[in-house]
Amino acid sequence: MKRSGVCAIVALASTLLIEPALAEIIALKAGHLIDPATATVSQNKIVLIEGAKIVDVVDRMPVPAPARVIDLSASWVLPGLMDLHTHLSYDYTAALCTNYLAHGNGYRTLMGLRNAQDMLRAGFTTVRDVGNAGQYADTDLRRAIEAGLFVGPTIVNAGKIIAPFGGQQDAVSHDVGPCWNYEYIDADGVEEVRKAVRTNLFYGARVIKLVSDARGGTHGVYTEEEIRVAAEEAHRAGVTLAVHAKDDLTAKAAVLGGADSIEHAYAVTDPVLKLMKQKGTYLVNTDIPLSHVLAGNPANPAVARERARAKLARLRRAYDLGVLIAFGTDVTHDLPGRDRGRMSLDFIDVWLEAGIGSPYIVKAMTTHGARLMRIDGERGAIAKGQYADLIATPANPLDDARVLAEVSFVMKEGRVVARTGSPE
Ligand SMILES: [Zn+2]
Repeated sequence: MKRSGVCAIVALASTLLIEPALAEIIALKAGHLIDPATATVSQNKIVLIEGAKIVDVVDRMPVPAPARVIDLSASWVLPGLMDLHTHLSYDYTAALCTNYLAHGNGYRTLMGLRNAQDMLRAGFTTVRDVGNAGQYADTDLRRAIEAGLFVGPTIVNAGKIIAPFGGQQDAVSHDVGPCWNYEYIDADGVEEVRKAVRTNLFYGARVIKLVSDARGGTHGVYTEEEIRVAAEEAHRAGVTLAVHAKDDLTAKAAVLGGADSIEHAYAVTDPVLKLMKQKGTYLVNTDIPLSHVLAGNPANPAVARERARAKLARLRRAYDLGVLIAFGTDVTHDLPGRDRGRMSLDFIDVWLEAGIGSPYIVKAMTTHGARLMRIDGERGAIAKGQYADLIATPANPLDDARVLAEVSFVMKEGRVVARTGSPE
């Protein structure tokens, strides 16, 4: 039976919710096997998978052949994609305090599950979810997936966002109280920052996220010392530190303090980009496609266009200067008819518009993501010992990364979760 279209994919994914994990060996025939780290393609390989992991990559079918063979000999096979900046349990179309009143933690977790599964079906087998998840809805979501209650991507979650007093709020009247505490931990000074990091770790965070943002003054800006304490506490626990920083003032302190990634960095100039290159600090650029901006009916489309152009120029400068860049989106709402997975893939266009080649984009969506999260020993490549997180496309994404929007096959830890075209 031929299957095609979104409905078939949804149906297949749903059936897997009740399918037990099988310990059989799977032989996956990869017509063209991509190594994103080196931008090379090997022809006619066989990936052997047992349970959740890849046990070998070989040239010939073993004798006797495994009982289950998945034939992708007409496809390009590569590691699953990674989005380093998601907010799965957040819908930005409502204001923060309104969200708090309207959506309880259970709702936030279920919304996160829907968005997580949409991401997986689109080919994202790992996401780094960087906060705005109510009372640790992201931890509940991660644990439910890890426990096998639902199929979903690997989630590296941040818990609450740590920020100077007031979270990311510019204008909340003191009459309504600190509603931002539903999403943020207020932390000022090194000891409050240290305690906030430890609190998040206690409640299940797998990455630490700080917001350092001038917000029209300097009251929202973290010092280098505060960042350093957060980095030390995070690294001691074996997790990484992501810092939201848009400009030189905030980004420079974050880089010098030991952040692993700078989120956004929209207005960062060349000297700070060079510092990032020197320190090995990743840029997670999160540059929203202009089509998404215009779909939101901005008050001044000309200004929106100019801002988008400036972000493109910054992305290009970072690339030219040799800054390590990892793919991250920052999608916080749905557009009509498009889920978070499809919207996240739209961000590929931004990179292409900046003149960045497809091999680098594929690397930013796989190898760089895994390295930034320090999970490259187990995810981000198709090799012996790695988790069997892989996808397939009908053409070579190293030639044109846009083909990643046509993912035809998704395997998550040895389970087929989405497939279009001919059945196995
Ligand atoms: Zn964000």
